[in-house]
Amino acid sequence: MALQITLPGQEGSGRVVGIDLGTTNSLVAYVEKGEAKVIPGQDGGIVPSVVTLDDSGNIVSVGVHAKKNALIDAAHTVYSVKRLMGKSYTDVQKESGMLSYKLAPREEGLVRVRIGNREYTPIELSSFILKELKDRAESYIGETVTKAVITVPAYFNDAQRQATKDAGRLAGLEVLRIINEPTAAALAYGLDRKKNGIVAVYDFGGGTFDISILKLSDGIFEVRSTNGDTYLGGDDIDRRLMELFLTQINRIEPKFEPTPEDLQRIRTDSERVKVELSTKNEATVEMVFAAQNVSYKRRITRQELEMMAKPILERTRKPCLDAMADAGLHPDDIDDVVLVGGATRMPAVKALVQEIFKRKPNDSLNPDETVALGAAIQADVLAGGTKDILLLDVTPLSLGIETIGGMMSTIIPRNTTIPTKARETYTTFADNQTGVEVNVYQGERDFVKDNRHLASFTLKGIPPMVAGLAKISVTFLIDADGILHVTALEEHTGLSAEVEVKPSYGLTDEEIERMLRESIQYAKEDIVGRRLVEAKTEAERVTNATERVLGQIRRHEIDIPEDRLKTLNINQLIDDLYALKKAVAGDDPTEIKAKLDLLEKSTEPLAQEIMNASVAQALEGKKLEEV
Ligand code: AMP
Repeated sequence: MALQITLPGQEGSGRVVGIDLGTTNSLVAYVEKGEAKVIPGQDGGIVPSVVTLDDSGNIVSVGVHAKKNALIDAAHTVYSVKRLMGKSYTDVQKESGMLSYKLAPREEGLVRVRIGNREYTPIELSSFILKELKDRAESYIGETVTKAVITVPAYFNDAQRQATKDAGRLAGLEVLRIINEPTAAALAYGLDRKKNGIVAVYDFGGGTFDISILKLSDGIFEVRSTNGDTYLGGDDIDRRLMELFLTQINRIEPKFEPTPEDLQRIRTDSERVKVELSTKNEATVEMVFAAQNVSYKRRITRQELEMMAKPILERTRKPCLDAMADAGLHPDDIDDVVLVGGATRMPAVKALVQEIFKRKPNDSLNPDETVALGAAIQADVLAGGTKDILLLDVTPLSLGIETIGGMMSTIIPRNTTIPTKARETYTTFADNQTGVEVNVYQGERDFVKDNRHLASFTLKGIPPMVAGLAKISVTFLIDADGILHVTALEEHTGLSAEVEVKPSYGLTDEEIERMLRESIQYAKEDIVGRRLVEAKTEAERVTNATERVLGQIRRHEIDIPEDRLKTLNINQLIDDLYALKKAVAGDDPTEIKAKLDLLEKSTEPLAQEIMNASVAQALEGKKLEEV
């Protein structure tokens, strides 16, 4: 199923990096002089996994700016795309109402996100994030970056892994290896401490949960078992809060119909209170939906949040117990439980982990960076830098084929060390039959209908012979990325039968080739177009905010004493504002950026003044208006 395409300029050397492509945030790291480092940037190198696109298919922004855009242009802004990887519309339909962007309702194949008149696969959307990370790494290191190790949740199935690999390729990266997030974390943890022993990695992020148990001995990182849920994470807690707030808002105003921006606003506030409640005992949400004349305010305690989150967090218990059972271990056998993923900062998560493993978890690693650092180390190993390290990972899910009565016949059981190979023999049922169809599934259930259909393939080119005489041995190989490859051989004749694999949740080879061709063809135009769109969007955000504040001052909604107002040079600010608006009407991104810098400079004293005024108001016990 794997398709290898080399892009022009991709051959030869280039820097290798490790990428943590997260549901919420992504990071890129590399090894320099034997030390793994995250490529720095705003927010310590964290790039929110968010993309804004315009109606014509231009990328407006990726990362921090896109996250800001989500609040003002939600329908064009895509987040949590990792949750859609390798999925169909039916798989994700249930929660599509909570998304502020649109999914195309289509029965077949991969789910697609609809923006304007265009539809995007999660693979393309992820490739935009990967491209941003690649660009960042290149600007920071000052060299081209052509190769990467990308991490995925250990519990990702074949379709999700293949999708991640394809996204890398579309971003112009040769994906040296796909590695599991908890394994990457263990690598960073183990190397740092030079420890031996049994380690459990509890990885609870924005959208996925993984538990892996590893044996660390003198540079060998051997995964003993893995388990998890690719649809469980901190996002689910945000969604519970959103549901609560929406229900209560509807109680105040039954006719309230949230716009995509309103939904995004509620989501942002939900996540904020969740994060605040990791360190505080209570937090407040206060939202005004001016267009619908609705305002909503609510105080929420940590205890309330924990009650709401409990059923979600509890879903991590069984995978932990199963992983221990699969590895033949008890909590007493485990030397350390390492916490990874942003959501493990919740005190309730730490308490639950302590209860399951009967020991205090180790929260000393930076849950945001560890996975990317581990990926960078593995990238360096594969590039021939770091030596004396060996990763032995496992396949998280069993692989099998459909047999009579829709039953699953397992060929490679879960938790088998990869790469691994298995062979199965097929024959013909009819005289002179020249083809056989095989359906491949992944999962643990007895009936294939409850498992994931990975692919169907037809063995063709079998020489005509009497029924039952042909002996076709089919080899299933799971490579070090956890991805399936299939080959077939007719044993009597020694002819290799042709295997035509139709992945059910992937892109076809032709689709990938077309996208690659287009991305090369449009790359140059894209860069210019994107700079302009980015500059215009940022400029519009700043001009809107400035005009709003000027209006509030004019209407005396913000209280700034007359004598202070004179020192703020408002006239200059208004000049700069109009200069920027004029530049936005043109199409020169450099000009827009220059005028934007001027306006930002001239608004600085005003912003400071407003901050002082609101602090003073708050101290006087007045209601703190959002300014
Ligand atoms: P990750 O996928 O590892 O980047 O984790 C992201 C998830 O962690 C999101 O759901 C965040 O809201 C959540 N998160 C980050 N910091 C905290 C915190 N201090 N308390 C609770 N959840 C957090």
